[in-house]
Amino acid sequence: MNVLVIGGGGREHAIVKKISESKRVDKIYCAPGNGGISDIAECIDINVSDVEKLKKFAIDNNVDLTIVGPEVPLMKGIVDEFENSGLRIFGPRRDAAAIEGSKYFTKLLLHKYNIPTARFKAFDRYDAALNFLKDVWYPVVIKADGLAQGKGVFLVYSYKGAKEALDILMKEKRFGTSGDTVIIEEMLFGREVSVLAFTDGKTIVPMVSAMDYKRIYDGDKGPNTGGMGNIAPNPYFDDKLLSVVVDTILKPVITSLKKEGIVYKGVLYAGLILTEDGPKVLEFNARFGDPETQVVLPLLKTDLVDIVEAIIDEKLSDVKIEWEDKKAVCVVAASEGYPGEFNTGYDITGVENTDGVFVYHAGTTIKDGKYKTSGGRVLEVTALGNTYQEARKKAYDELKKIHFEGMYYRNDIGTV
Ligand code: AMP
Repeated sequence: MNVLVIGGGGREHAIVKKISESKRVDKIYCAPGNGGISDIAECIDINVSDVEKLKKFAIDNNVDLTIVGPEVPLMKGIVDEFENSGLRIFGPRRDAAAIEGSKYFTKLLLHKYNIPTARFKAFDRYDAALNFLKDVWYPVVIKADGLAQGKGVFLVYSYKGAKEALDILMKEKRFGTSGDTVIIEEMLFGREVSVLAFTDGKTIVPMVSAMDYKRIYDGDKGPNTGGMGNIAPNPYFDDKLLSVVVDTILKPVITSLKKEGIVYKGVLYAGLILTEDGPKVLEFNARFGDPETQVVLPLLKTDLVDIVEAIIDEKLSDVKIEWEDKKAVCVVAASEGYPGEFNTGYDITGVENTDGVFVYHAGTTIKDGKYKTSGGRVLEVTALGNTYQEARKKAYDELKKIHFEGMYYRNDIGTV
């Protein structure tokens, strides 16, 4: 089989690595890929949102299967486009991907089918929203309806803060049309968990749970980042809780979508908050998480290509999905200054000296046969072990063999 993976971060490196282990795969292309991915796949210089070019590439190169990493091409309808040309592609179609692309669409769906989430109101007029904010009980959360790279959510504690958020979204238009509609919702309190699941629109199979370390400094202090590390399984998420999430959230969502005429096929990623009244939905993503994938896929025993194909053919119930009975710890090495300003272009050395771990490249390029830094999050080292402690030690021991100018990482990943 010839497989094309779309994307160029650590998540796509983990996907490419996993499918490279499949006996059914001969050739892997990745668009655009990155320095590390280029070791196992042929990287193609096509932007992830250039659907036409990607489709032409898939046709011209006899691609048998395409796997989509990031959300942007999904929202652009890449799955519909490929399918219309008779190509096999893994991911939700545009109507189903709206579960990530429009928070308003999702809130309406959850509300209509009584799926637990924060109470909300939506506005497409600035004056009406501001008026509403004069009378609400604070705190509240204000969100852009559309994609905003995780930056369109504001937790506000007063009218003043609320007005500032509204100005950014609706007047300044910092996130363009994503802020044309805003959601104002009650603030919920509790521990946050993400649950990722495979689904073909009929069967839903949750993946191993993961726990994210979001902030830049040890002790989960400092500004938020795209993620500084991860562990799997999530020690705070047991089977009992999982079955509540499956019964009250995941299954109802898939069935409600179906009632609306939408078949959801792909990875469904639920961002949840465990409140005193049970788990509630904060958001959905229509794809693998980044960096959750970097701890989840190394634990997958079943051939990922078999799973992906079964989902496309709506036969997921035929596949038995198995996981390693191990713990995974992933530590992210970032560029100094991240998540603020940082420099790139530094040589990365020592990756070849690491042993027994997965080194995923998030922001690297390859120049004259040498890896160079090209992003905020640069590399992610995942180790497996029988305990978190064992996996954690292995990840850090190997990470210390790698060097680049200004390399920064947290020291407390995996201390549970
Ligand atoms: P979202 O993109 O909707 O998941 O929001 C991003 C982050 O904002 C979440 O991971 C939460 O930390 C926070 N957040 C969003 N909505 C709420 C809410 N209703 N109550 C409390 N925190 C929230």
